[in-house]
Amino acid sequence: MEFPSKLLEKAVEEMSQLPGIGKRTALRLMLHMLKQPEEQTMHLANALMKMRTEIIFCNSCHNISDKEVCDLCANPLRDHQTICVVEDIRDVMAIENTQLFKGIYHVLGGKISPIDGVGPSQLKIQSLVEKVKEGKVKEIIFALSSTMEGDTTNFYIYKQIKDYNIITSTIARGISVGDELEYADEVTLGRSLVHRVPFENAFKAV
Ligand SMILES: [Zn+2]
Repeated sequence: MEFPSKLLEKAVEEMSQLPGIGKRTALRLMLHMLKQPEEQTMHLANALMKMRTEIIFCNSCHNISDKEVCDLCANPLRDHQTICVVEDIRDVMAIENTQLFKGIYHVLGGKISPIDGVGPSQLKIQSLVEKVKEGKVKEIIFALSSTMEGDTTNFYIYKQIKDYNIITSTIARGISVGDELEYADEVTLGRSLVHRVPFENAFKAV
């Protein structure tokens, strides 16, 4: 693509680094911005800068947050002994949308995936094991996507906590095998949580 403006070219170049945005789409977005009032672009740029520099992770559940302890963890009305283990904030949002879960979350930040170079030490697994060891947990619900990486991650964690006196369960496989959690509809996801099964049984079924 030949650009008569280096400024435009640079902006398109940066924008097309984003997933799902090709150069043509990036160019369309930039031309749209140039037609809009200047403040609109400034507001977007400021929101992006602020999000990137000010966002933090909750000390307790590791979810993306604006505070050191997120609103979910700080809520005394939630059941702090029931912890739902998820991959990232999108899963927290999906489960919260069902309004059927009253416990708290533990956000791992990914799944164990040797192909992508993600090992257990890069995920927030140890702090979850610590919570179990400290006797703060009654039940752990595994709610990772039912993919090979999700199962590997569940099993890795399960091995470390199975000797403590807690209930371990995994969401029922109403979620199709291979599906990402965030794409499941609310009814399916809600049902999967309500009908969760003991983790051991989930293995027997496979
Ligand atoms: Zn939190």
